Amino acid sequence: MSKVSTYDIDIVKRESSKIHDVDFDNIPFGRVFTDHMFYCDFIDGKWQQPKIEPYGPMQIDPSARVFHYGQAVFEGMKAYKDDNDDVFLFRPDENFARINKSAKRLAIPEFPEAYFFEGLTALLNLDRAWIQSGKGNSLYIRPFVIATDSAIAAAPSQNYRFMIICSPVKAYYKGTVKVSIASKYSRSANGGVGFAKAAGNYAAQFYPTGLVQEKGYQQVIWTDADTHTFLEEAGTMNVFFRIDDTLITAPTSDRILDGVTRKSLIQLAEDNNITCEVRPIKVDEIIEASKNGRLKEIFGAGTAAVISPVSAFEYHGVEYELPEINEQSYSTTLKQNMLSIQHNLAEDKHGWRYEIK
Ligand SMILES: *Cc1c(COP(=O)(O)O)cnc(C)c1O
Repeated sequence: MSKVSTYDIDIVKRESSKIHDVDFDNIPFGRVFTDHMFYCDFIDGKWQQPKIEPYGPMQIDPSARVFHYGQAVFEGMKAYKDDNDDVFLFRPDENFARINKSAKRLAIPEFPEAYFFEGLTALLNLDRAWIQSGKGNSLYIRPFVIATDSAIAAAPSQNYRFMIICSPVKAYYKGTVKVSIASKYSRSANGGVGFAKAAGNYAAQFYPTGLVQEKGYQQVIWTDADTHTFLEEAGTMNVFFRIDDTLITAPTSDRILDGVTRKSLIQLAEDNNITCEVRPIKVDEIIEASKNGRLKEIFGAGTAAVISPVSAFEYHGVEYELPEINEQSYSTTLKQNMLSIQHNLAEDKHGWRYEIK
């Protein structure tokens, strides 16, 4: 391994790349990682020298607080390559702001902006070959922070590790999903951590999601914890409903994550002269609309899939079907708009692309 020091990141490069062992046509999501990882430790009250090293296992004390109290937050973002081999991120400033917002809620110290962007740039430049061009292909980027104190005392950690790891993902068409609307379990509550990308939020979803999967549904549509009458999120995505020609999505709150995809789709809807209402939406309203033939689409929105269309939903044992999606569906149009901007194939009116140089 060769050790290089840039002006502020210590870099240890892998001698030879693992990329030749990777079958890019058959990569399962999130199981293959690039050659390098970025990390930076918080010790003695400050973030230390950032480092990039070959990706691999690391040693952590079994008493590290992350294992006992789940003091951990993360982000999910993607890098895209155009046909000129230029690499872009999509609105990374939003992910940076959000990881610190999540960190604050979990009593984790905020990470410096310069380290975040220099770390991403250095890491993506080292692992550039792992980003495949072509619409839909991308490199999934996972920044995260864990509490590393060796102490099983239920108090915030004094020490943390911030890391970035990357995983290549292939464009794939997952088709539609069937969803079940929650009437017992909740994802988040008022005053809780639902707005944060806190690791424990996801662990808590696995069990109720498993229950609906046994009944033939892939995801849960989460409702408000108090009354289970307002529609909030779809699995780990934000959710949109189309009634007639109007899109509707719930306003963000303590309970609803402020997704970058959601925010971008609201803007793209406006650009396409599609009315998008941001307001609370009741389960009854979509059931009524479904019965009257006015419910045209439901889709989830998030970085991983961009848009994930729903073919049917279940509520209290009754299943409601949605019309088939086609080229005119809002989900189709808006997804193509997003991908074209992300892959530098369309004008970037809102300044969302961020080139890695
Ligand atoms: C990450 C996430 C989203 C989507 O956010 P994006 O920024 O669009 O990827 C939506 N809901 C939850 C609960 C999430 O964790």
